[in-house]
Amino acid sequence: MDYLPIFLQMHGRPAVVVGGGHVAARKVELLIRSGARVSVIAPELFDDLRGRVDAGSVVHVSAQFDPSQLDTAELVVAATSSREINAAVSRAARERRIPVNVVDDPELSTFIFPALVDRSPIIVAVSSAGRAPVLARWLREQIEALLPARLGALARFMGARRKAVKTALRPAARRPFWERIVRGFVGARVLSGDESQAQKAFDRELYTSHLTSSAATGGRGLGEVYLIGAGPGDPDLLTLRALQLLQQADVVLYDRLVPEAILDRARREAQRVFVGKQPGESSTQDRINQWLVDHAMQGLRVARLKGGDPLVFGRGGEEIEVLAAHGIPYVVVPGVTAALGAAAAAGIPLTHRMASQSVTFVTGHVLDDDTLDWRRLATTHQTVVFYMGVAQLARIADKLRDAGAAADLPVAVVERATLPEQRVLRGVLSTIAEVATAAGVKPPALLIVGEVVAFAGAEALLSMTVPEPGAIA
Ligand code: SAH
Repeated sequence: MDYLPIFLQMHGRPAVVVGGGHVAARKVELLIRSGARVSVIAPELFDDLRGRVDAGSVVHVSAQFDPSQLDTAELVVAATSSREINAAVSRAARERRIPVNVVDDPELSTFIFPALVDRSPIIVAVSSAGRAPVLARWLREQIEALLPARLGALARFMGARRKAVKTALRPAARRPFWERIVRGFVGARVLSGDESQAQKAFDRELYTSHLTSSAATGGRGLGEVYLIGAGPGDPDLLTLRALQLLQQADVVLYDRLVPEAILDRARREAQRVFVGKQPGESSTQDRINQWLVDHAMQGLRVARLKGGDPLVFGRGGEEIEVLAAHGIPYVVVPGVTAALGAAAAAGIPLTHRMASQSVTFVTGHVLDDDTLDWRRLATTHQTVVFYMGVAQLARIADKLRDAGAAADLPVAVVERATLPEQRVLRGVLSTIAEVATAAGVKPPALLIVGEVVAFAGAEALLSMTVPEPGAIA
């Protein structure tokens, strides 16, 4: 390092600028902003400085430079057009051990001014040690564009609440708390200018953190679990809350139904853990439950991503029970369940004024020990959606037929709904299994049964291709 980067406290401290031209004026402005008491030494002043003097924010000493003028200064800037005078100022300041900057002359200076991004109280200073000022300024512009305009407001918001947090939380819980504020909902609200929403969310967050940084974990702070519905596959169908919490999580536990494109929405540093079924393993759910508890007990924020909605055929209920039994705080974020994703993407209404007054979601995964009322499922004027293993399709169709459903009842199989490879097969109950086998349907897929299928409009536009710029003549 060629220079020690520091921030000097100049409120009310005496600073002297020698020179009365435009260059001096720029330094005077900066010193005023820092709160310094500025004196300008120059036989003559240019306009920009004259205004400052008239307004009383600067004292003008109308004289030639003399070393004794620096006796009480704590910071000196030389900005005359004469190298001789600048050198004399530099010498006099050094003799008095006062930091001195000669504008554009690192050799005569003991300190240099960095290029600044000012989002007070956040300040970013960039320096090339005088070697490439243009590069430093370019960097400054890049950073300027990158930082939110209201960054200073966020810093003030946080600063004003430090005491309250100190009182409410044990030391070990404070850093994770502030990280949640910065990265999460509260920070986002302040940056968007909505401080009253931010305040409410902050109070909630502080209260929850206070409750959870209990003695149970030795003040280490208990983590929390977000049971997040990942939707049927298209990442754009994630909820805003799912995104916020994914951005906050330290660990992401996911299974087979969650595509890569959704995992990519998680915080980059978050650890990803696949918890899907291993071949030959019977107790996957026990292992997942244990993972959730272990990670939360370590004080981590765990996102448990589940396909569709976590509480629809997802065993989310069992995970909640385990978390509650261990006193681990959790949040459930609903997701678009596969039936809704499939219906929307295939353009099939799930209810219809004339054809269907109710819709039932049924799991077709456990047909062997099922307690389903097949006669009821086989009646008309309703829609039944089977979440199912593809292998069960023929048996489901048979059971419905046996219970009295018509052979020509309209049905649809939707495979990989909302994903780019989505396929919709329409048919009738008596032949759909053959059609699906012939088409080579693979999981995940579901079956929609009911007259509504015949009302289906065109399939929804799945992905709009945006033309390359210039592709449109
Ligand atoms: N919790 C999930 C359901 C889990 S059960 C939800 O709310 O959607 C798994 C079954 O969901 C699969 O066997 C399949 O029938 C259905 N499924 C999940 N994603 C699907 C998709 N993208 N397309 C079609 N069916 C899907």
